[in-house]
Amino acid sequence: MSREQRSWAEPYKIKVVEPIRMTTRERRNKALEEAHFNSFLLRSEDIYIDLLTDSGTSAMSDYQWAGMMMGDEAYAGSKNFYNLQDKIEKYYGYPYVVPTHQGRGAEHLLAQLLIKPGDVIPGNMYFTTTKVHQELAGGTFVDVIIEQAHDPTSLHPFKGNIDIGKLKDLIYKVGAARIPYVNLQACVNMAGGQPFSLANLKELRQLCGQFGIKIILDATRAMENAWFIKRREPGQSKRSCAEILYEICSLTDGCIMSGKKDLLVNMGGFLALRDEKIYGKACELVVIYEGLHTYGGMSGRDMEAMARGIEEAIQDDHLRARIGQVQYLGQKLLDANIPIVEPIGGHAVYLDANRFLSHIPQNEFPAQALTCALYLDFGIRTMERGLVSAGRNSKTGQHHPSQLELVRLTIPRRVYTQAHMDVVAETTIACHHARKSIAGLRMTYEPDKLRFFQAHFQPIGSWTNSFSSEYPILQDPLLELANTIF
Ligand SMILES: *Cc1c(COP(=O)(O)O)cnc(C)c1O
Repeated sequence: MSREQRSWAEPYKIKVVEPIRMTTRERRNKALEEAHFNSFLLRSEDIYIDLLTDSGTSAMSDYQWAGMMMGDEAYAGSKNFYNLQDKIEKYYGYPYVVPTHQGRGAEHLLAQLLIKPGDVIPGNMYFTTTKVHQELAGGTFVDVIIEQAHDPTSLHPFKGNIDIGKLKDLIYKVGAARIPYVNLQACVNMAGGQPFSLANLKELRQLCGQFGIKIILDATRAMENAWFIKRREPGQSKRSCAEILYEICSLTDGCIMSGKKDLLVNMGGFLALRDEKIYGKACELVVIYEGLHTYGGMSGRDMEAMARGIEEAIQDDHLRARIGQVQYLGQKLLDANIPIVEPIGGHAVYLDANRFLSHIPQNEFPAQALTCALYLDFGIRTMERGLVSAGRNSKTGQHHPSQLELVRLTIPRRVYTQAHMDVVAETTIACHHARKSIAGLRMTYEPDKLRFFQAHFQPIGSWTNSFSSEYPILQDPLLELANTIF
């Protein structure tokens, strides 16, 4: 019997543990107030289960930790860099690699290298830092994801796909000369962790080839995308995720990568390219902003941990358990009729706050309010992905419209157990029962860029003080019997 015929049990056992602590409700009220009702401003010590992000929060293996001791901290030409480069070429196929401190370091280099003022960069839905770097370089992002991605109830298996028709229209409208590249994100974060299909990428390749437009992959979660292709795309089930990943990359011209996601490390990223000339320019630029081209923003030991992380993360067994855990949580919520984005994504379960809190208008930030309720109820930290994250249009002064109003329950890799997922599901269900006592928020401080990180809020009508959910207390079934005896 093969493993695939059994449950997704983790392909590892636990060797080191880190204690976590449940706080009192009183403490959580105070902590949330001190954090201005923004989960990004909470202290980690005040959190029981931290589902803020899967970024840099993974558990490293003994093999990776052993690699940390093998750090070659030479300023130039560290052996860990060459190992990292080898692994990237082996699994992603790109020959030229520039390490950066994290994904946005690579986004910065890419945008400065390829975008001219007035350019247009199509992509399958925006990502926060990606879009800002495009704008800082004088470009404008245009969303060309398929319509179904904006509908949290659509069961399209590849909601990360690019709408080829929309892209064609854009090319005819602005001209190919103004489109330096298409930004193709794997497992689209803002759409709920939704993959693109190989078939869609092949069509995209053909169209871009015709017009001489590059395709840059945001490979941050490309391995997880490969898993969905293996599971959902006709004819792919017999292939390994490694083979699929390699094919994905072979259809693109380069990638930016946040190693903090797929690659099981706490820090690091890279820009990888096929074009030697652009690589040369990237080497010039990285020295100014990050560090020499053989370490960029990383220490030798971090590059080693990431090189080893690539080998572990691409294993089918790992991806099966990782995504299996996310599906487990999502299915529990679906079974309890909690409105979530479907299909369940690869790295997170997204609550649909528009349906969960349908009594709160979007300009009172229902998703942000729901993150507060989940925290108050049981110390679960989550993230808003809705109107606050979308930001404000600096020209019109209006919020950028966001059809989706979501709360992301993001699962770190190899960190929590199935029992933690049960507690998270119970908390969410409890908040859903008590949803009528949740009200909206007012924004009281708003930074110009990426406001969701540091914005301040106040609960409308002080609902957070009185909010309480009720969940049945689990009793030992023998307690009643014991009471009759004693
Ligand atoms: C996290 C992320 C980034 C940025 O990477 P950082 O390592 O956080 O700087 C870029 N794209 C996607 C899709 C991401 O999830």
